[in-house]
Amino acid sequence: MPTIALLPDHLINQIAAGEVVERPASALKEIVENSLDAGATDVHIQLQEGGITLIKVSDNGCGIQKEQLSLALARHATSKIRSLNDLEQVGSLGFRGEGLASIAAVSRLTLTSRETGSDYAWQVETQEGEISAPAPAALQKGTVIEVRDVYYNTPARRKFLKTATTEFGHCDDTCKRLALAWPTVSFTFSHNGKVCWKFPIQSRQARIAAVLGESFMEEGLPVDAANGQLSLYGMIGSPTQSRSSRDAQYFFVNGRFVKDKLVSHALREAYRDVLHHERHPVYALFFTLPPDLVDVNVHPQKSEVKFRDSGAVYRLLKGAIQQVLAGTVAGAQTPSID
Ligand code: ADP
Ligand code: MG
Repeated sequence: MPTIALLPDHLINQIAAGEVVERPASALKEIVENSLDAGATDVHIQLQEGGITLIKVSDNGCGIQKEQLSLALARHATSKIRSLNDLEQVGSLGFRGEGLASIAAVSRLTLTSRETGSDYAWQVETQEGEISAPAPAALQKGTVIEVRDVYYNTPARRKFLKTATTEFGHCDDTCKRLALAWPTVSFTFSHNGKVCWKFPIQSRQARIAAVLGESFMEEGLPVDAANGQLSLYGMIGSPTQSRSSRDAQYFFVNGRFVKDKLVSHALREAYRDVLHHERHPVYALFFTLPPDLVDVNVHPQKSEVKFRDSGAVYRLLKGAIQQVLAGTVAGAQTPSID
């Protein structure tokens, strides 16, 4: 007769990490989202070997107090929600309290932080699920997280890592998506000691141009539409700017990059009459709605959402995009964005 036993915490975390940390880029996403939730206005990202050997993120956010450092690395520990009601109203990117615990379970993680107003910075490290006691560290402000050797202790996962170049591409995409959604934050992104890109704090329009190129801004079409509590804002590419791949499609729901079948279907339908079916539109669209009208807790990576009234979302998206595209055909004025 097989016996049933509770698994040790470290193993639970390693199993759960499979869902959250699919690859270095997913660890990076969790870490940068924490910086944004902490109110950072400046985020530095440094990678080695596509993030496989090192992911280092430094921010100037609110920091973490010494007594809370080990809790930050514990599973189901979060400062962002306290109740189910908070979850329904959630405005932060994180809320599940499992990002850092999952990353720590499959890497060597060092967390250094200085809480705003504190005279000292402190550092903790993890090793095989054990968290060290806080040691004094040197840091002016904010938080620095270093993640080394992702999956060093989970060989089954390590086998699925692609080349450093491929993993780098995923990290680059992840950070550009975050940068697009947060023009009020400056970002510096370096790989193997070289700065790849750097965006200052800028307007939404300037950030779209920085990420998608000046020509996208010049030839693209502004979108600014609303229906009740739903609003849609951003830029779409003209039919001539379409691409053979879907790699320049950015859709954000309340500041969160999402991939959603309903959204892509609505957009494809809107472009139907002006695009060949093998071409894909380019867009950077920011959709906002009250948080209780969308469920973001659908998947551990939070890249999927469920809309309460998906019909209304679909109609707004398809209608607004069709109208903008029709406006260009008729030579009508489209609204400008600032
Ligand atoms: P979640 O983001 O879902 O709360 P995480 O495991 O990602 O869970 O982080 C746990 C907690 O650690 C956060 O709720 C936050 O209080 C703290 N934290 C993590 N990263 C930072 C950071 N860069 N700055 C300030 N606090 C942070
Ligand atoms: Mg988090």
